[in-house]
Formats: sequence, C-alpha cells, structure tokens
Amino acid sequence: MNVQQLSFSNWGENIKSSSTNYFQPKTEEEIITIIKTNSKIRVVGSGHSWSPLCITKGILLNLDFYNKILEINKETKQVRAQAGIKLWQLIKALKQHQLSLENLGSIDQQSIAGAISTGTHGTGLNFQILGSQIVELTLLKANGEKITINKQSTPDLYAASIVNLGCLGVVSEVVIQAVSAFNIADETQTIPFETVIENLNTYLTQNDYFKFWWLPPTEKTIIYQFQQTNKKTNDSRLRRLFQDRILSVLVYRFVVLLCKFFPNLTHAANRFLTSQIHYLNRIAESENVFIVPEPPKHLETEWAFDLKDAKAILKDYKTFVETEKLNLSFIQEIRFTKADNFWLSSCYGRDTIWIGFYAYKHENWETNLKKFETFATKHNGRPHWGKLSNVNSSYLKQQYSNFEKFLALRAEFDPENKFLNEYLRKCFGLEK
Ligand SMILES: Cc1cc2nc3c(=O)[nH]c(=O)nc-3n(C[C@H](O)[C@H](O)[C@H](O)COP(=O)(O)OP(=O)(O)OC[C@H]3O[C@@H](n4cnc5c(N)ncnc54)[C@H](O)[C@@H]3O)c2cc1C
Repeated sequence: MNVQQLSFSNWGENIKSSSTNYFQPKTEEEIITIIKTNSKIRVVGSGHSWSPLCITKGILLNLDFYNKILEINKETKQVRAQAGIKLWQLIKALKQHQLSLENLGSIDQQSIAGAISTGTHGTGLNFQILGSQIVELTLLKANGEKITINKQSTPDLYAASIVNLGCLGVVSEVVIQAVSAFNIADETQTIPFETVIENLNTYLTQNDYFKFWWLPPTEKTIIYQFQQTNKKTNDSRLRRLFQDRILSVLVYRFVVLLCKFFPNLTHAANRFLTSQIHYLNRIAESENVFIVPEPPKHLETEWAFDLKDAKAILKDYKTFVETEKLNLSFIQEIRFTKADNFWLSSCYGRDTIWIGFYAYKHENWETNLKKFETFATKHNGRPHWGKLSNVNSSYLKQQYSNFEKFLALRAEFDPENKFLNEYLRKCFGLEK
C-alpha cells in the first residue's frame, strides 16, 4: 500500500494541512485494514472542495488507485466502478461503449465518490444532482463492515447516503446508471438580465439544460441553452482549441490579472468581456458542452434556493450586487436542478435555482462572503456542501427536515466518531 507524509492542499489552495499521513490503498482488504486500525480518518477524493471537509488530525485516505471499472452492462446501461474513479476516467470508459452520463457539472476532475458526497450538480430542471445517477453503493462502515445500499431495496439508506459528506464510512464501489451517448445543440448568446428574469420559465421548460453567467454590473448575461440531439457534431477541435482553450483562457486570465492590480478597471473589464461573447451555435458531444476550461484559482460559495421564488430572488440579487458595488472579476453563475429526496441534498424537496457567488481571494472575499450569506439566508438558501459558507448547525437543522435522522444514522454507523472532523462537528452542532 502507498503511504506517505504529505502536506495537503485543496484545489482552491484555501485549505492546507502539513504533515498528514496519506494512505492510497489498492484493494478493499487494505481499505478495511486502514479503517479498523485508525481512530481518525477523512477520505479525500480529488480535493476539489473549498469547504474544509478533508482536513483531519488523523489520516487521509485516498482512493486514486482504487479506480477500476468492474462491469459494464450494455443492456441496463449500468456500470459498476470502484469509487476512486475520476469523472473523466468514467466518461472515457463509457464512451468506448457509446454511453455517457445524463448530466455533468462544469468540470470532470472530481472522483465519483467525492462528487456525490457533497451534492455536486449540473444544470437543467429535468435533472437531479449527480448523485441521482448512482443506483447502488457499497459502504465500509467504521467497524470495517461492508454494506450494500440500493435505490430499490434500501430506499431510506439510499436517500441518506448519497450526500454523505464522507461521514458515514468509506464509499468503495458505486453502480452508475449511464445513458446512450448523445450530442448537444448548444446556443450561447448574450441577453439583458431583465429579459432572462421575464422569460425564465420559457428558458427552463424549452431547453433540456439552461444556465447563465453574469459579469456584474454588466446589463447583459451570457445564456447557455442546451438541447439533446441525435444530429451529428459540427464543432471542430480547432475551434475548441483556439476559442475555448486559448482565447477564452488567455484573454480572460490577462484581464483578471489586470483587475487585480487596477481594481477600478473591473467593471469596464467585465463589460468588455461580455461584449466579446458572440452568438455561438454548435452541436458537440455532451461532455464537450458540459465541461468548461479549467478556471484560474478562485473561491466559491453557491446556494440553492426554492425555484418558485426565482424571479424575486434574481431581482434582489442583482440589486444587492449593484448596491454593494461589488468588484467581482469572476463570472457569477446561475443554474437549476430538479428536486430530490436525498436527506442532506441542497435540493431536498424543492426544484432549485442555484446562485454561485465566485471571486478571487484579493477581492475582499471574507467580507463579501458574509454579505452574500446575509442575502442568501434571508431567502431561505441552502449552501453547497463542497463550497465555502459560515452557516451554523441551527440554520442547517431548520433547512433539512431529515437532519436529526441523518445525525442519528451517522452516530449508529460511526459511534466513535472516526470520520468526523472539526468542520463537520461545527456543522452538526456536536461538542468536541
Ligand atoms: C474548478 C471547480 C469546479 C467545480 N464545479 C462544480 C460544479 O459544476 N457543480 C458542483 O456542484 N460543484 C462543483 N465543484 C465542487 C466539487 O464538485 C465538489 O466539491 C466535489 O465534492 C469535489 O469532489 P472531490 O472528488 O474533489 O472530493 P473532495 O473535495 O476530495 O471530497 C469531498 C467530500 O467527499 C468525501 N469523499 C471523497 N471520497 C469519498 C469516499 N470514497 N467515500 C466517502 N466519502 C468520500 C470527502 O470526505 C469529502 O467529504 C467544483 C469545484 C472546483 C474546484
């Protein structure tokens, strides 16, 4: 087994710990041995969460070498995989069998277990969070016992364990429901913010997937309308390389750097960047549309609100950003997800509008995060578990009707609190 002393840092570089024992097992027996012989464990996937979920005084367990595809059933389109597999590895393997995932977030670097554990989502009102694509998972509990949790045969445990924050045990295998590979017709254009609010229902119902980006205080937003299609792709690799990978990445990074040293330029720069988005109409393979180029290092909070309040919330959000005169040179992102019944899912029981508040550390992050949280809690928002937030356990308890049930299950599965860290204790309102 691969064991090292490691200084851990997450993708966003806002979480760091020195000298952690880092275990990378290759077999299930090794994982069980680690669980049985250590008293404090956190599992880390790709380290792409901004929230301090993977900081521990004990050991860090990583399943990068426990990442094999075990079985692909072409008839049911179900795929059994070891839980350390990265989304990009999974997508690549599915592609060889003309399969794909029905929805994705903006990147494919996460491990499948890490992505589901925090309620990672894409966009589209017909689609739930990514965890809904899991139909079965294998969990290794704190005593090393192995249990199988299945959508049909153990629905309660299933609802509890998809968004699990790594505190019910180690997810070692998953069965994923894939779909036949499909292309997407992508129509990208700029539209005034007010028009998006007015026509929101139309955009949501007439597209399979819909999201928009906003660079404040620009009046226009960049809207993305995606439809599944059987039509052939017409998107060239050269266009993707030049426009998506070189132009947008390099020009954008240059402008961001400029704004770091000359913050007064931020609003003008945002207007310039928005004006550079021209009408784009292409057909491409689904993952090439869902996944965006890797952004520069930045910080995120993202909150889930009840879709029925969407119009009022969007208006208030725009007013909030404008009144506060926030200097944000990162895109602000609005997405949508279908309601689900996962106990700790931010979309539990309600169709959801997500507002992603993204910024650079130097853009007054701490102060602005608090201001955004005041706005978000006023509108009954629920924070994304993988992103930054300061909310306390009493607020969370009030937001999730199964919160106490989840805590009871956690205590039953992990009576010695092996999988807890300080951050989770704070979220759960547990004494040290
Ligand atoms: C650039 C960027 C873009 C992003 N885009 C999106 C997006 O589009 N949509 C979205 O919703 N989120 C997005 N995120 C957030 C990200 O998807 C989540 O934070 C996700 O949980 C990270 O997955 P990971 O594999 O890195 O897990 P980690 O961050 O390493 O861990 C997350 C949680 O999973 C647990 N975990 C990991 N593996 C296991 C296991 N085997 N068993 C039990 N628990 C486990 C950990 O203990 C921890 O609690 C983005 C993040 C970044 C940095």
